Amino acid sequence: MSLEEQLERARNDESYRQIFVNQVPLEWASKYIHNVIYEPKQEYTNLAIGEMQSYMSCEARPLFKITSNLFFYCSFRKSNIHIYPLSFTDPLTSTINRFLSCLIDHEGFHAKQAYSNPLNFKDDNRKQTEIDAYLNQIRTSYMRGLDDNFRAELIRKIGRWMNS
Ligand SMILES: [Zn+2]
Repeated sequence: MSLEEQLERARNDESYRQIFVNQVPLEWASKYIHNVIYEPKQEYTNLAIGEMQSYMSCEARPLFKITSNLFFYCSFRKSNIHIYPLSFTDPLTSTINRFLSCLIDHEGFHAKQAYSNPLNFKDDNRKQTEIDAYLNQIRTSYMRGLDDNFRAELIRKIGRWMNS
């Protein structure tokens, strides 16, 4: 079964979703991702301008240490990516290239942000880290053969974050 057919099966059969996400090749992002986990319970992102259903999220896994001179030292390990039901019902993630764009070029990008610059990957910087991840998705969308409709949707999402 091709990856595209496996996505189709996962969209129709919830019990196949964890199996499907385990099969997806994470490309360069495998360096930054620990586990990809299907979450049957839908999550929401809170924006000042209203709630938004989440497709996927990146859970950074900080490691705190206290150094001998009592300064905190913080580093991140590989992140866990959580995938919510919306990713298997919405048109935004309905083809394998759209799904990979969201999983690798957006969530994988967050995992890289968390891994490379842990002190900047925090709630205070959420707006900027989101905008950067969407811009990365737009940049790589050409290589994945994605169309202008998909890019227009990403640009709308950047607009929502900019206004939040
Ligand atoms: Zn994001």
